[in-house]
Amino acid sequence: MKRISETSHKVRSGCRDCHGDRAHWLGRNALAMAARHHDRTGHQTWCEQELRTVYGAAGPAHPDLFQETTS
Ligand SMILES: [Zn+2]
Repeated sequence: MKRISETSHKVRSGCRDCHGDRAHWLGRNALAMAARHHDRTGHQTWCEQELRTVYGAAGPAHPDLFQETTS
């Protein structure tokens, strides 16, 4: 049996001097943006990466639960 798995990768980064601990760059370019900003300005930049792996497909929605509203 084939195991279904899905991996997602979240990246957020910022500059200590310009943004403090607040993330300023998000997504796949966040790492490169932090590196480039450091090269250009000499500021200390940081980057947090989250790797999430899920095994198995999502089951059917539970009928007793309210549907999440998106509006
Ligand atoms: Zn900066």
